[in-house]
Amino acid sequence: MNFLEEKIIQNGVIREGNILKVDNFLNHQIDIEIMRQMAYEFQRRFKGETITKILTIEASGIAMATLLGLIYNVPVVFAKKSETMNSTDTKYVSQAYSFTHKRMNKVLVSKPYLNAEDKILIVDDFLADGEAAHALIDLVHQAGAQVVGIGIAIEKGQQQGGSKLRAEGYHLESIAIIESMDWKTQTIQFRNQEKQEVGNAKLKASWV
Ligand code: 5GP
Repeated sequence: MNFLEEKIIQNGVIREGNILKVDNFLNHQIDIEIMRQMAYEFQRRFKGETITKILTIEASGIAMATLLGLIYNVPVVFAKKSETMNSTDTKYVSQAYSFTHKRMNKVLVSKPYLNAEDKILIVDDFLADGEAAHALIDLVHQAGAQVVGIGIAIEKGQQQGGSKLRAEGYHLESIAIIESMDWKTQTIQFRNQEKQEVGNAKLKASWV
């Protein structure tokens, strides 16, 4: 079991509706040590790739993206989900259906922050149906830039985002891949990415 899977078992809570709550270290309170470990894990998995920019989407991807930006010494851009009154830049615009908020979100990046010569590593906290990832890919392509890879903290393997992106030929790396989870028993199964096996575990966090 890797460090992120351990952390999920210690601190995650499974909610009804196939939702894993990780507010304790990723989505609300941020465990910087885990972010640092994830950033180094992505560096290991994308070894040999030239990366000129990290791209994520607000809000939960930003912490992980900044540490990765520090390691690669490249800028970090986060796509916004709404227009801000004080921005006069023209924008690349895409759309993504939000799994957690059950609505379409606009996804925007100001044109000066993505350029045709950029080689981009996309990162995000979760991958479920791949809506957010596909919107970010769309923005990169609108800019004429290249997607070098996609780094995800937690992939929900029972949803189709991961298999779609892999079938489309993207280099996708997810640190933890959930094969299944059960909110009633608080048990989770991770894909063993080295052995391509599935392991079963019970979450330890109290029911909150
Ligand atoms: P997708 O766009 O791939 O369908 O969903 C990914 C987005 O939905 C992530 O950015 C994340 O915000 C949210 N999300 C999807 N499933 C979960 C989940 O089980 N737990 C949490 N905390 N967020 C999720």
